Amino acid sequence: MLRSKTYQFWFCTGSQDLYGDVCLAHVAEHSQKIVEALNASGNLPYEVVWKPTLITNELIRKTLNEANTDETCAGVITWMHTFSPAKSWILGLQEYRKPLLHFHTQFNREIPYDTIDMDFMNENQAAHGDREYGHIFSRLGMERKVIMGYWEDADVQKKIGSWMRTAVGVIESSHIRVMRIADNMRNVAVTEGDKVEAQIKFGWEIDAYPVNEIAAEVEAVSKGDIDALVEEYYDKYEILLEGRDEKEFREHVAVQAGIEIGFERFLEAKNYQAIVTHFGDLGSLKQLPGLAIQRLMEKGYGFAGEGDWKTAAMVRLMKIMTQGMKDAKGTSFMEDYTYNLVPGKEGILQAHMLEVCPTVADGKISIKEQPLSMGDREDPARLVFTSKTGPAVATSLIDLGDRFRLIINDVDCKKVEKPMPKLPVATAFWTPQPNLQTGAEAWILAGGAHHTAFSYDLTSEQMGDWAACMGIEAVYIDKDTTIRRFKNELLWNSVAYRK
Ligand code: MN
Repeated sequence: MLRSKTYQFWFCTGSQDLYGDVCLAHVAEHSQKIVEALNASGNLPYEVVWKPTLITNELIRKTLNEANTDETCAGVITWMHTFSPAKSWILGLQEYRKPLLHFHTQFNREIPYDTIDMDFMNENQAAHGDREYGHIFSRLGMERKVIMGYWEDADVQKKIGSWMRTAVGVIESSHIRVMRIADNMRNVAVTEGDKVEAQIKFGWEIDAYPVNEIAAEVEAVSKGDIDALVEEYYDKYEILLEGRDEKEFREHVAVQAGIEIGFERFLEAKNYQAIVTHFGDLGSLKQLPGLAIQRLMEKGYGFAGEGDWKTAAMVRLMKIMTQGMKDAKGTSFMEDYTYNLVPGKEGILQAHMLEVCPTVADGKISIKEQPLSMGDREDPARLVFTSKTGPAVATSLIDLGDRFRLIINDVDCKKVEKPMPKLPVATAFWTPQPNLQTGAEAWILAGGAHHTAFSYDLTSEQMGDWAACMGIEAVYIDKDTTIRRFKNELLWNSVAYRK
């Protein structure tokens, strides 16, 4: 499901003809070496493609427009090796529509003290040229990423790699289509939003279908297909019968297998990459989709419960941003449930009714069946597990009526102290930065939801950069957050983002 498109990033070096052909030949040679080193580093998730040096208004405009229309180009990396008069960039930049990285580097690491002369100075003056170039962005009020550092340094290369994932998120955002198979949970506010504005801002298509249309696809799944998938489940997961009848347990699991296959066929046929369900509107489905949705999320589909299309789209987006990542720890839909307020052990227990993505699981995954205690269906089969430890990011996209706000919280995932044998759902447990009290106070002041799109594999910087490219407000709750400053930030933003 998470089909990795072979995106590329163009490397465009700026210069001018003031210093002669020899200098320009050096500029081209140097930028080619940088591109080769970046590609050989293993620190970039996507390939960098070298482009001929940009020295005129015409060529800059032509190249940036080619980048706009090239479907494999997810962004442009620019660097002013020499002085490149920035007026030459105005028309090209005004027409450019993709993510742009201003890589502020220099070919040589050290000043060659013994040999440096004016020829060297003229040729190697990114400190000069990149400032001229940066100025025109600021004057145009254009969003761009600036990364400064030496091109051979792994930490600098990793920053570029991290930005590439954000850029792909920006490009892919407009390919996200969310299928809603029920409306919003009655009377719930935070999961609502302006779907037209979401399409304008993020490119998301959000459509609703009567639940029984997708239920018919589930009913059409053959017994043979269901049996084969149930076999796969029984091979892959531990079965926690817990005194339940073996045959009935398997029949309930088979219902989820039918839902997984039927839903996936429906989503594929109609080209949706995210799905929203609602426990209160299940039509002829025999169970709330639990295990089935968990498996679809694992395959890369976005999901959120109770009609929450914003979070479902964000989960899909974040899965795209992490695709192909080595040693990825997982990305999921989550819901804040209950606190531990014991001093020194503070945190929030995370789950959803059933639907936590198995990519975040730590260790074994089991299938369990329990009553839902909501709704009127069979006891649904679900995957249960605990989640990995370590730093992660939890995000909530909310609609404030006049604008969207992305709330981004750095969190530290931990193990709970003891097993929770009676809790029949997959869980995570985290302490928000800077601590539970300030983190939760700030989250509530910002209007953050109880639903989050969560990932171990993305950073607040990446999510904030994505929001900036989308032209929406982002607020960070992290180690530096204080309530006084945060409240002021919300106030200032309410003015800055006013339409
Ligand atoms: Mn919920």
